[in-house]
Amino acid sequence: MASTEKRRSAWEVAVAQFNEAARHLNLPEDVQEFLRTPKRELIVHFPVIMDDGRIRMFTGYRVHHSTIKGPTKGGIRYHPDVTLEEVRALAMWMTWKCALMNLPFGGAKGGVAVDPHALSEGELRRLTRRYTAEISILLGPEKDIPAPDVGTNPTIMGWIMDTYSIHQGYAVPAVVTGKPISIGGSQGRIEATGLGVMYTTRETLHRKGVRMHEVTVAIQGFGNVGSVTAMAMHREGAKIVAVSDVHGGVYNPHGLDPFNLMRHVQDSGTVADYPLGDPITNRDLLTLDVDVLVPAALEGVIDEELAPHVKARFIAEGANGPLTIEADRILQSQGVVIIPDILCNAGGVIVSYFEWVQDLQSFFWSEDEIRRQLKRIMLTNFDVVWDIALSKGVDLRTAAYTLAISRVVEALEARGVYP
Ligand code: GLU
Repeated sequence: MASTEKRRSAWEVAVAQFNEAARHLNLPEDVQEFLRTPKRELIVHFPVIMDDGRIRMFTGYRVHHSTIKGPTKGGIRYHPDVTLEEVRALAMWMTWKCALMNLPFGGAKGGVAVDPHALSEGELRRLTRRYTAEISILLGPEKDIPAPDVGTNPTIMGWIMDTYSIHQGYAVPAVVTGKPISIGGSQGRIEATGLGVMYTTRETLHRKGVRMHEVTVAIQGFGNVGSVTAMAMHREGAKIVAVSDVHGGVYNPHGLDPFNLMRHVQDSGTVADYPLGDPITNRDLLTLDVDVLVPAALEGVIDEELAPHVKARFIAEGANGPLTIEADRILQSQGVVIIPDILCNAGGVIVSYFEWVQDLQSFFWSEDEIRRQLKRIMLTNFDVVWDIALSKGVDLRTAAYTLAISRVVEALEARGVYP
């Protein structure tokens, strides 16, 4: 499938998932229409002076899907295929993810259509500063708080904090999360998403009578989410048999040591040429005969063509929206247990919330405290989702969506519609 089609279909997937949950909740059509529609969408075209002295134009987006439950929260993506439709889908998913975890936020997402690896550090910094300035009419600690996503990292969050602060005339750490610790970042933010993927997977396995040390795992993506998930699951005794990144993957049926792999990636920039295993394509990785499959890269990677070939019994959605609607249906009918993205990868935004709270109070917590609270929030809401799935006889995605959406509806009823 062409990548632009994939990006368009991310929005179609998000809407179809919403519609399905809305049907279960018997939501009136007008309320559905309100909740489906993004509140505001900003498109910016902006210049960056490249290292050769020439101006190059870039296009960026920031979408606020909902402000019903609070200021908007969500990452910023740097990827060549970023489109408005993709960012819109990702923003809607953030609304449900925050509501599912009971965080006082609405959903947002931003992105720039750029390959960050093709830029020098200076170009990346100038691009980030100009993009931040262009979307700054939407930003603010009480308005909209960005964070890292695919292609962005703590260094970039630091530049965003600095740019916004310089325009205000004073330091505003709470305007962005996922920053370096020295400027108000939180302990445990980098590990948060991967740890959360491990917690929800371990809990799901446990409820099915399976232990972490009994399973084999394949992970697509070895960025912030995939690498930490691999290390966290490895520590729990799981056998990580395959990992991949954009350049390709590596497979070893006897197990890979993700800590070793991490050191390899720091030197060579990819897992693809790791010597202690055989090369494997991203596509083959997704259909490996493993117990747990963790898609932790981009959306739409498992479609209707691939789904019938997936052999994993459990899918932990480290990425946002990795399955198309048809793939989801096929996998459900094959009896695969799918831990949905808004539940599985919510650890990142939970610790982002802690970072924001700490910045607002200028009082910082220990890493132990962060981990304890992260686990508490994830597992409390996991329990509620699991109980809904059992009592209503629905899959985990429908259970998570109905819970999240009903919380937003409750807030909407409490606020009413202005005027
Ligand atoms: N980009 C992450 C996500 O998709 C984190 C968002 C945040 O921390 O605000 O959940």
